[in-house]
Order: sequence, then C-alpha cells, then structure tokens
Amino acid sequence: MLKVHSRCDLSCDHCYVYQHADQTWRDRPVRMPPATVRAAARRIAEHAREHEVPVVHVVLHGGEPLLLGAAGLREVLAELRAAITPWTTLDLRMQTNGVLLDEELCRLLVDYDVRVGVSFDGDRAANDRHRVFAHGGSSHDHVRRALALLRRPEHRASYAGILCTIDVRNDPDRVYEALVAESPPRVDLLLPHATWDHPPERPGPGSTPYADWLGRLHRRWVDDGRPVSIRLFEALRPGGGGTEAFGLAPADVLVIEADGSWEQVDSLKTTYHGAAGTGFDVFDHSVDEAARHPGVAVRQDGVDGLCATCRACPVVDRCGGGLYAHRWRTGSGFDNPSVYCADLLRLIDSVDAYPQPAHPAPTQWADSPVDEVLDDLATGHGSPPTLALLAATQLSITRALLAACRDRVGPTAAWELLVHLDQAAPEAVRVVLEHPFVRPWLVHRLDSSPRSGVRAAVDPLPALAVAAALRAGVAAVVTVPVRGGAITVPTLGSLTLPDSAESVEVTVLPGGFRIRDGSTEQTVLLDPIAPPPPGWRPTRDVSVPGGRLLVEDGDPYRDCYGQPVAPRLEPSAARALGRTLAEAWRIAHRDVPAHAAALDGGLRVVVPLAPDPVRPLRSATARHAFGAVAVTPDPDPETMAVLLVHEWQHAKLGAVLDLYDLVAPGQGTLIRVPWRPDPRPPEGVLQGVYAHLAVTQVWRSRAATDGGDASAHAARFLAWTRDGVDALLASRSLTAAGERFVGQMRHALEETGVGSG
Ligand code: SF4
Ligand code: SF4
Repeated sequence: MLKVHSRCDLSCDHCYVYQHADQTWRDRPVRMPPATVRAAARRIAEHAREHEVPVVHVVLHGGEPLLLGAAGLREVLAELRAAITPWTTLDLRMQTNGVLLDEELCRLLVDYDVRVGVSFDGDRAANDRHRVFAHGGSSHDHVRRALALLRRPEHRASYAGILCTIDVRNDPDRVYEALVAESPPRVDLLLPHATWDHPPERPGPGSTPYADWLGRLHRRWVDDGRPVSIRLFEALRPGGGGTEAFGLAPADVLVIEADGSWEQVDSLKTTYHGAAGTGFDVFDHSVDEAARHPGVAVRQDGVDGLCATCRACPVVDRCGGGLYAHRWRTGSGFDNPSVYCADLLRLIDSVDAYPQPAHPAPTQWADSPVDEVLDDLATGHGSPPTLALLAATQLSITRALLAACRDRVGPTAAWELLVHLDQAAPEAVRVVLEHPFVRPWLVHRLDSSPRSGVRAAVDPLPALAVAAALRAGVAAVVTVPVRGGAITVPTLGSLTLPDSAESVEVTVLPGGFRIRDGSTEQTVLLDPIAPPPPGWRPTRDVSVPGGRLLVEDGDPYRDCYGQPVAPRLEPSAARALGRTLAEAWRIAHRDVPAHAAALDGGLRVVVPLAPDPVRPLRSATARHAFGAVAVTPDPDPETMAVLLVHEWQHAKLGAVLDLYDLVAPGQGTLIRVPWRPDPRPPEGVLQGVYAHLAVTQVWRSRAATDGGDASAHAARFLAWTRDGVDALLASRSLTAAGERFVGQMRHALEETGVGSG
C-alpha cells in the first residue's frame, strides 16, 4: 500500500488516519516526493525479482491519492510500471473517496490499468453521517458522480468496487439498495475501527447490534440472488478464503508511508500513536527486512498467533480473531479476541443459518437483467436476444476503444469522416466496427507506446473510415497509413502496393476507390464478378444456412490466436473450405438447433489456421475478436460442426467475461481437471466446462440416432463437464455471479440430462 498523498479533501469523523490514536500524519510530507516513489518502486521490483513473485498488488492510498492531480498521478504510475513490470505482473489499484474523479483521471486510470475502489457508505443519510467535507457539506453527490463515471463502458475496466464502513444506526435495507444501485463489481463492508480501549458504539438494547445489522443485510442479499459480490459474506462461509479482517491466511500487506517509512497494516493507527511503525524505510531497508519486523511476523503464524480464547474457538478458521487492530487492549496488547467477538460469532451463525440454496431454480434468479443473461447462457447455448445483447456490448467496447484512439491523436479528418458517416450511414459504420479484427487493431494501437514496448501499430481510423465510406457509397479522400507494404480495408480486402510509401491517398469513388502513391495511381473496383485488379485481395464469403460467413485470410490483425494463421488460400482451397463450412453449419442445425441458432446470431468470420502435421486438428478463439473463430481448414464437416460449436462457446463466454466478473480476481488458485494433465486457473476451467457442455449436447444428439462411438463421446464429455463444474464450485474461486452461472450449468446437466441442445 503506497501512501502517495497524506492529506485529504474530506473530513470523515470515522477516519482512522486523522481521527484516531495515531497522529503521525502530521509529520509526514503532504505528497510522496518523486525520489521516494522511485525508491519504493525499486524495492518492490527488487523483491519481485529475488523471490520470483508472480504478481504484486500495489494500492495507491492516502489521505486522498487523487489530490496528486493527473500529472502527478501519471508520474507515479509511470514510475511503478517502468520499475516493476519487467519483473512481475503488476496489479495496480487505488482507494479513493472519488470526489475529484473526472474524465481525464478516468482515462489515465484506464490507460495504466488501475482498478479503483471508492469509499461510499450508502444512501445519502448513511453516507453523510460521517463522510463530509471540513465545512460539514455532503459528499454524497460527488461520490455518486464518480461512481457513474466509473460505470461508463469506457471506464468500467477500472471499476473495482465500493468500500463501505457500516454504522448500525443506518437502515441496512437502504444502505444495501444504495450500494447495489451503483452496480459495483464488488462491495467490501467494514466494521468501524474500535479496540477494547475504545469499544464500538452499541446503540439499542441488543448485545450484538453489528451481527444483527449485517445479518439482516445478508438475508436481503441472499433473497435477492446475491446480485453483487459482497466480500464479507463470501469470506465468512466455510472455506470462504478469508480477508485481511477474517480467516487465518498470513497477512501479506506492507505500507509505504509518504516519507518512505515501511509500516504495518494501516488499521493499527486506531490503536495507539506510532503503532504501525517498523523503524525501517525504503531507502535503507528491503521488503524482507521490513517483513521480519515482529509485528508483521506474528501475522504469519495462523492460529498460533492468536490468543487462547480464539485458539479454542469453534469458528476460528473462519473468523481468525477478526481484524488485528480490533484485538488491542492496553496491557495485553493484541493477545485478545476481537472487540467484536460476540458479533462475529453470531454473524457466522446467522450466515450459516441462511445459506444460498445449493442449486437455485432458474425462476429464483430472474430478478435482474444480469441474472437473465447469465441464466440464458448457462443453458449451454443462449437465445437470439441474448446473443444480440452480447454483440451490442462488444460493439460498444469497440466504439469506446475507437474513441480512446481518437483521444491519443486528437480529431483528424478520418475521425470527422467516421463521425459524419455514423450519422449519415450508421449501418455501414456498424458493419465495419463489428468486423472481429477491428478491436485487436485498436487494442494493439492503444498498447503500442514507448512505455509498453509494444511495436507501434498504424493508426486504424483512416482505413476504417475508407471501409465505411465505401460501404455507404459516400465520396471521400483519406490518407491511409501503409503497414507491411499494404493497406487493409476491413471487411473488404487488402491491397499490396508497388512502392514502399508510408501512406497513400485513397479517394473513395462509386463502386471502388483510387489510390495515389507519389506519381502512381491505381483504381480498384469492387466488382464481385470480374477478376480482382493486381495487388487487390478481396475478402471471400460463403453462403451458410444462417446467412453469409466471411473466410478471412487477409486481415493482418487476424493474427491474434497465439498460433500461426494460414496465408491467403488458393481459390480452390478457399472454395473447399466454404463447402465444408456450409455443410458443417447444416449439421449443427441437424444436431443442436439451439446452438446453431446461437451461431446464426453471432458467428460472422472463420479464419483458417496454418497447417501443422503434428497437430492437424486445431481451433481457437481470441478474447478481442468476437464474431470469429479460427480452425484448421480441412476437417470433415461432422468434425468441423463440433469445432464451430465448441469455439463459439468460448467466444460467448469471453463476451460475458467482458461484462461480468465470474471469477474472483487475484486468487492464484489452480484446479485439476480431467481433460488436461496440468492444473488450470479458474477462468480456464470455466471456459473448458462451458465448451464441453455444448460438445456433450452435440454428442448426445448424435448418440440418439447413431449410438456407438457417439454414445462413448457423449459419456466422456458429460463426465468431464460434471467433474469440472464440481471442481469449480468447490474451489471457492468464483464470484457470486460466477457461482450462479456454474450452478445453473449443473442445473442444466442434472435437470434435463445435459439440456435440450
Ligand atoms: S476520505 Fe478516507 S482518508 Fe479522507 S477523511 Fe475520509 S476516511 Fe479519511
Ligand atoms: S469469534 Fe471471537 S473467539 Fe472466535 S475466533 Fe473470532 S474473535 Fe476469536
């Protein structure tokens, strides 16, 4: 945790930084000086390198980190990325009150892949009970505006969730509703900091008001089908994994203060002045030296580091003695149960007494659009309206990336043309932006910067504008950058140029275009009958029962599957592949009509993979290329049908994962599955079972008419799917939404004998 700014623009009366026992903030620099940021980043990088740490989480904290301003924040983020990313994966986070968040800061956070948690205590009355400005004014509207900015599609990737400190005087239903209304990926509920020296307020007659308040909120959350992930409740379940406040996992947090001091966890500031100090700093001491401090070391001891009462407690593995700071009492130090002990015991009881049904019936989940989409897809295929929704959200992501590219270079003639066409001929722009390889191009362009080391990609906007203008029949002149001696016109084809110019002038004409490269001119007419002019390689499509399918073997950004793609096919090979695809499509309609309808609803492009004698049968999808799958060109149509259905499952689930967190981030869990020798991360297992569910349905259908091998295949894929689903659910690595989704898949398996297909 990096304390990049030690002052705050709010004045919350429950703040442990300023209002509790520790007052060391008064002697610290207002902002972390650049030399301290550099030293901190080097210490973290040094530790990651020496211990080969696979991922490091750095949380920018304060005070209020946004008080650095955009320029100051950019310097800190650039320093951290430059020093640490050569050695490990850097998971950057920020905890903020949100008051200063604006579009520029959001773009910066997205650029540097920072996930942001916002402190927000619920409805206006609850939030403003504590979270106010120094003059007493409300922060509620400011924070809600920040949350609305983070919800926008172009910023959503940076929205980590909400941190809510509870107060039992607030109405739990209103707090719950206010939190859910902000659609956070995750909610963290915190007990107000207290110690045995300064016990928490206990208004009312009950002896466990915190358990009663949280228990009510828990029941409401369960009744609603757990619409958001609430970490407290997920952590408290048996095997729930714990958090810093619960469970027995070793504490793995160190704080770097604004003056470069290494400190223990921040919450210790609530106990006594200087409690979090270690005497070490980043200039002279490594992470290892700071971690050997007795106060940090004792947090690695699990149950042995707890008091006798906790060691004998029946729920110690789930409670873990509560938050370390809440055990403090002058005299006995931290050798006590939590000051919230009675509440924690009762809360665990009430969570156990009100469990989520193991496999809720679908009707119980149809409370919100999120649930409906997940329920529908968990049947194995998904209905046409759901496919249309996924396609629309993918398009909105592409549009957001397009705007981000525009922001990099400012408005250009190509951008102005696209904006004009978007109003005059929106269908033409839509078809171009839906081409699966536009998003990989935009992503590559945005990733290519001196900081990332990714090779520069040419500006995609001019080529997109040309493609849209050609489709719309709108005359235009655009300067298009050249890549690898060619220009690509997405959805239409690519043109190899005779000279090695950096850019060419393209004039869009009725039915074609003319290029001017120095003194050379060439006209390309888009005539599907006539032979293509020299250098022009038009895209080729094939008629299938659901419409037309593009065989894409020219777009350079199709090279996004992590395996070699085939070069341009000879005409005879292209025709053969077209026949195979059309026949495979008919077979899919015969075997699994519901899956075939899902193919009709979204699969637009097939990319031929390069032949490989060692692995002749391969297929792939790419997360950024929705609407396309890649296959080796020459399997028989029956096999091709299975490959198409299988890969389309991955594409659909990838689009779902762009929208919802189904796997809890940053857990590092690996799961053994029957179809692979190596343990897999939860997202890989989720992808595997979702694809296998569909393949099971294909073989089940074939077994009904053929028997024989089809029955054996069906049995094998069914067993794999069941085992994978069970392993996922047992791993506790899914979010609440993920558990619903996987639970519903099992429901499809058990209730209908692998679903209707
Ligand atoms: S916003 Fe956070 S740091 Fe600022 S006063 Fe409130 S609790 Fe403290
Ligand atoms: S419930 Fe109380 S005794 Fe049990 S582990 Fe938690 S704090 Fe300790």
